[in-house]
Amino acid sequence: MVFEGLADKLQGALQKLKSKGKLSEKDVKEAMREVKLALLEADVNFKVVKDFIDKVKDRAVGNEVLESLTPGQQVIKIVNEELTALMGTTQSKITFSSKPPTVIMLVGLQGAGKTTTGGKLGGYLKKSGKRPLLVAGDIYRPAAIKQLQVVGGQLDLPVFTLGDKVSPVHIAKAGVEHAVKHGNDLVIIDTAGRLHIDDHLMEELQNIKQEVKPHEILLVLDAMTGQDAVNVAEIFNEKLGIDGVILTKLDGDTRGGAALSVRAVTNKPIKFIGMGEKLNELEPFFPDRMASRILGMGDILSLIEKAQANFDEKKARELEKKIKTQEFTFDDFLDQLQQMKNMGPLSQLLEMIPGANSKQLKNLEVDEKELVHIEAIIKSMTKAERKNPSIINGSRRKRIALGSGTTVQKVNNLLKQFEQTKKMMKQFTDMEKGMKKGGKMK
Ligand code: GDP
Repeated sequence: MVFEGLADKLQGALQKLKSKGKLSEKDVKEAMREVKLALLEADVNFKVVKDFIDKVKDRAVGNEVLESLTPGQQVIKIVNEELTALMGTTQSKITFSSKPPTVIMLVGLQGAGKTTTGGKLGGYLKKSGKRPLLVAGDIYRPAAIKQLQVVGGQLDLPVFTLGDKVSPVHIAKAGVEHAVKHGNDLVIIDTAGRLHIDDHLMEELQNIKQEVKPHEILLVLDAMTGQDAVNVAEIFNEKLGIDGVILTKLDGDTRGGAALSVRAVTNKPIKFIGMGEKLNELEPFFPDRMASRILGMGDILSLIEKAQANFDEKKARELEKKIKTQEFTFDDFLDQLQQMKNMGPLSQLLEMIPGANSKQLKNLEVDEKELVHIEAIIKSMTKAERKNPSIINGSRRKRIALGSGTTVQKVNNLLKQFEQTKKMMKQFTDMEKGMKKGGKMK
């Protein structure tokens, strides 16, 4: 999970304040000491931590807070606000040129996730109506061009390449011209990376910048590299001038230091975050929502947006009708499961629900396996069985268990749960009908 250790420790330190009726200056200072340690352990830049703690302390030891009726809550509110400010306060969007095509140049070290992110970003912006062209400008890493073509193919995005014998500056320029000719209003240029920053690379990137004058230079940074990522950002910004950052691999075991320091150190915003290897796992970055997630307050807005992006509205309406008319089958159930899976791992979803703590999240790994079993069981049923589970007798149960690699008991459980769910749905519908008739709920 994102920021697991940090979230645990911060929530622990602040929880202590919440449980106290009255706070003294000493209580606040003690809690801030814990917050400070938690941030340092999360690999947040030490100067950033110091400024942050000073700001929170300044605001939190005032009479207004200490003498309020809910001092603990007030301190948490201040920490939340300052965390949000640290990450840039508001969402920072891509600025599109009024004279298309908008040109975005992606830069970063090798392995940070540039090529993947180029595809993800194209796919994301295509959904909002853009017509992106991906330009293969990394001619040094073996297979980088092929990789971009594969990614483009999966997302149904055109990829422009001139092979690896032409200079990247020329490729970038020709790519933009190609976009103009073919009506692409967005160009995303993938560039070469190195394992370390070197002058030759910087010079090449400067030349591309000079030639195509990109509207946005976005630095792709690997969140798992912590403070190193922040150093890389400082140098790229100094030498090239960047407009923002895309932080990848935030789904991994990252301590979070890069996400919390990069804005404060470079004064450049994080615009997107990579949350997995799949091509739809890129999210716009919202400082306030991230702060809420870190403090265990959830992120309902992102959850709703994810649901809207992944659940088919027409299907949802059909489903509602089926529930009302008692026609809900195992096929519908499977459909729901699949749509839910598109939203990402359960643990990532639960993280967005207020009050969910990371201990509960750990148990979820088990449940994730459970879902795989359920899917296998349903897939081992025949069409007729899915539609009418009442025909599933003893021998059918045995066959389904065998086919799904589970046990008869698991099949029994699922059948029972399904019946119960249907019963519950019926009760809700009846209740709704009753209320419409003007009856009162018992
Ligand atoms: P490049 O050298 O900068 O072009 O990096 P690539 O695009 O080839 O990515 C390097 C590796 O990181 C690949 O295995 C990607 O699948 C992986 N990757 C990229 N973004 C993410 C992310 O957000 N999460 C995870 N878990 N992996 C990612």
